Amino acid sequence: MIESTPRLSSTQEVVKELNRRSSFVMVSHVKPDGDTLGAGLALGLALKRLGKRVAYFQQDCVPRNLRFLPEAELVGRDLPPDLPDDTLYVFCDMSDWRRAGEYLPPVERENILDIDHHLGNSLFGKLNYVLEKECSTGSVVMHLLRGLGVPLDSRVATCILATIMTDTGGFMHSNTTPEALELSAELMRLGADKEQITEEIFLRKRVAATKLLGRIIEEMRFEHDARYCYSFVDDAMLAQTGADGEDTEDTVNTLLGQDGVDVAALFKAIEGEIRVSLRSSGRVNVQAAALRLGGGGHFRASGLTYPGPLQQAFAAVEAALVAEGL
Ligand code: AMP
Ligand code: MN
Ligand code: MN
Repeated sequence: MIESTPRLSSTQEVVKELNRRSSFVMVSHVKPDGDTLGAGLALGLALKRLGKRVAYFQQDCVPRNLRFLPEAELVGRDLPPDLPDDTLYVFCDMSDWRRAGEYLPPVERENILDIDHHLGNSLFGKLNYVLEKECSTGSVVMHLLRGLGVPLDSRVATCILATIMTDTGGFMHSNTTPEALELSAELMRLGADKEQITEEIFLRKRVAATKLLGRIIEEMRFEHDARYCYSFVDDAMLAQTGADGEDTEDTVNTLLGQDGVDVAALFKAIEGEIRVSLRSSGRVNVQAAALRLGGGGHFRASGLTYPGPLQQAFAAVEAALVAEGL
């Protein structure tokens, strides 16, 4: 069989496919954030309104601060045993299918819809709906909801607004375009609960998380004339503070926020794995640096998993950043 070259799909093509199928699994990436989860929930809720059958697959637990999202309680690792063969698996917010994790049973390309906004998406689906200019995967989903002509209620609106606020850092990052703000206003008029999103995702912190942040700040190191700031978290620091992996979310932004810092890295050596979060003020492309080490992401926010000891990870990441102009 000759594999056709993967390509981007039009809104019309994707809407046609969504109308044609009757059963769906929304798939989020490992270490889920408000974008991957919110995008899947929004599309899932809308498809249900059209009378479709929808299940949600996510390998990792729903983070505490996202449990308020409508239908989050239906998200998990276990899929219904009786899914029809022509179920469409909708991968949200990942540049490659491997980011869904190893627990997802194998899915044929024929049954994959890839919805994303990352740079360098590997176009792994039968249909690939990738809009790199959109601030979140949820705002990509919004084009499909309009195409489907499905009525938008406050629950769908809350999910989409959560994706935008997550990926713009509460309207602070450079992807906060006029279009992102206009869409957010529209979602608020539809009843999206901005207060709740702000409270749950940005304001409320566990004391253990704040103590962990303190430890991360104590361990900050500065290199390259203090333009590069990095720190780490390990299992011992989690045990000392009573925090867990979820409590490391967002702390890398504190590192990037230090005066004069262009690039920040947080190394998370947790449960035998090293995950690295990279952030840039805009001068250095951290997506390109992450790609050198098998990761990915966006120009100003990226990540990777490093297969080796922490000291080596420090050196490898620094070398990748230097190669990208640090
Ligand atoms: P994080 O630092 O985990 O918030 O991730 C920042 C960005 O990098 C997100 O857009 C992620 O999707 C992406 N990213 C994180 N880890 C990886 C990875 N191992 N492979 C590819 N992309 C990643
Ligand atoms: Mn994501
Ligand atoms: Mn995203």
